[in-house]
Amino acid sequence: MSSEAGGPPAGPDRLTSPSAGATDAAEVSLRPRRLDEYVGQSRIKENLQVFIRAAAGRGEALDHVLLHGTPGLGKTTLAHVIAAEAGVSLRTTSGPAIEKPGDLAALLTNLNERDVLFIDEIHRLPSVVEETLYPAMEDFHLDLIVGQGPSARSVKYPLPPFTLVGATTRVGLLTAPLRARFGVTHLLEPYTEAELLQILTRSARLLGVEAREEGLAEIARRSRGTPRVANRLLRRVRDFAEVGGTGLIDGELARAALERLEIDSEGLDLADRRLLVTILEKFRGGPVGLSTLAAALGEEKDTIEDIQEPYLIRLGLLERTPRGRCLTPAGVEHARLASGHAKAPPSESAERGQKSLF
Ligand code: ADP
Repeated sequence: MSSEAGGPPAGPDRLTSPSAGATDAAEVSLRPRRLDEYVGQSRIKENLQVFIRAAAGRGEALDHVLLHGTPGLGKTTLAHVIAAEAGVSLRTTSGPAIEKPGDLAALLTNLNERDVLFIDEIHRLPSVVEETLYPAMEDFHLDLIVGQGPSARSVKYPLPPFTLVGATTRVGLLTAPLRARFGVTHLLEPYTEAELLQILTRSARLLGVEAREEGLAEIARRSRGTPRVANRLLRRVRDFAEVGGTGLIDGELARAALERLEIDSEGLDLADRRLLVTILEKFRGGPVGLSTLAAALGEEKDTIEDIQEPYLIRLGLLERTPRGRCLTPAGVEHARLASGHAKAPPSESAERGQKSLF
């Protein structure tokens, strides 16, 4: 099966991966700073506005906030926005970076009153650190053990009131006591095409790219509901516009560029199609267990589970069943088209008989 040979990386450096990769440093410049620039997620935005104002009115820190959802949906951005709206500073860290209680104590004792501490991948906090976090979140103190052996005693060390914003892609892995200590929990949903178009319009303006709505809409449609993917595709399509075109991103150029990038009209790339084709051809459409599938694809289990599957499931191409992964009838259809082509199923421009621009 030719589509299987030497496939593209499915990890963060893949174009359609929602995780931040090496080429995403430019992302920081596109990050909205304030709530009114933050597109979509209207329910959490409206609530946060009220909570931030109420907390400020009382002179208190905002309640702790837990944000969950797939990578690239704007959790880190929202943490920054919360701090900016509350007029306080933000410290950023991540679960795996805090190895011992002392690391956490150093972070917490350096906060100013009402500051925001952002912990990304909070489900990966070591459990001893997590236990240190409980009293800190609950009533702003650390329980420090002073002395050793029989004379050891616990001392309460007061902390400034602060807001913890935790982000996770795997809320199910959070312990119940930790979850219970967040006053606000919010699931970030994938963005609609209209919202992605709004994000892309702003990004094109900030990047100084000349673009027609039709061109940006084409990118939005193939961005898997994820702002990070949308911005990344915009940067790549811009390269094609500058090198092979006139610099303008219109519908025709966007379609041709996305085709060159081998991203089909549903936003699937080679790695996704390879996954569907492998299930169809090697496992007769499934069910196939995750480990077996990962071995057949030469891919990490986590990459398949966190990055590829959520989108394929959302599109209704794949199902997770107790016996393993199965293609849906639509998934079988997509895999058939893909395996016939080895690359992409026929794109819209090919169907319309347009020739490639590049
Ligand atoms: P996460 O932390 O969930 O992985 P990020 O907050 O790092 O995602 O978002 C990735 C990029 O997507 C940001 O740099 C920003 O440019 C863009 N982005 C995310 N959410 C929004 C939004 N609601 N409005 C505009 N841009 C967004």
